Amino acid sequence: MQNEPIHMDGLLRISLLGGEARAFLAETTFAAERAREIHSLSRTAAAALGRTLTVTAVLGCMLKGKDESVTVRIDGGGPAGTILAIGKPSGDVKGFVSHPGADVPRRGEKLDVGALVGREGTLTVIKDMRLKEPYVGQVPLTSGEIGEDFAMYFTSSEQTPSLVSVGVLVADKVVSAGGLVIQMMPGASEAAIASVENSAGMFMDISRTLMQDHLEGTLEQLLTHLEPEVLEKVPVRYRCDCTRERVERALMLLGPEELKDMIRTQHGAQVDCHFCNTRRRFTQEELEQLIARCEQNRA
Ligand SMILES: [Zn+2]
Repeated sequence: MQNEPIHMDGLLRISLLGGEARAFLAETTFAAERAREIHSLSRTAAAALGRTLTVTAVLGCMLKGKDESVTVRIDGGGPAGTILAIGKPSGDVKGFVSHPGADVPRRGEKLDVGALVGREGTLTVIKDMRLKEPYVGQVPLTSGEIGEDFAMYFTSSEQTPSLVSVGVLVADKVVSAGGLVIQMMPGASEAAIASVENSAGMFMDISRTLMQDHLEGTLEQLLTHLEPEVLEKVPVRYRCDCTRERVERALMLLGPEELKDMIRTQHGAQVDCHFCNTRRRFTQEELEQLIARCEQNRA
């Protein structure tokens, strides 16, 4: 922590108004840029995935147990196809867009994220809390702009009135990315609700504020009047935890017949990770070993 550069990605968990509301303020510039780089995203796709990763980082930090994870899936019916992101309590996020190169014309000065994502679909949040069944919440998309869509998700699916502002500034690369989620706690007073609602206008340009002032400066500039108390700072990183062993296990789940078929038709297999684009090759001999392990497990 000591020599941590001020511009590192991170997320602040904040109590507001003496506990009547809470906020999550995230700076995700490096994570959004890493995603753009890995997937060769178009500008608008970089904005769409960057916004999604930002709220996914917030959702990840709302989880309690360290083995829990949250998956966000946005199917908007637009040129981007599906956007998928996964977040963890550690602040690790990863994600992809099924059509990374797809783009749409700007609307005025703004990247038209809503047009790229589409507005005719759903936002789904799946929380794996290590229980028998995962928690699944789904809402129809409001605008495809992602911030509003998550606000609707929190309000209608989690019954928590929430204000969500996310932004990604993209030039040749991601210059700034981040977001702010403010939620009213149960039993919040009318006065507290009004103070949060009245500040909504200040949060519109969150990526520009973060670019200039980073996390602590942005906190001071945007939230001082809501009496913020920082409870925790979590690092945010784009990180994929895939390993060759995991891919082996996934291949084994396909079963011996499928693996034999791969040997017959392709004399091996290659498996690409959608999140980090790592390609792993398996030779015929390696597949035969996996088949042997499958059959051992069965015996
Ligand atoms: Zn991976």
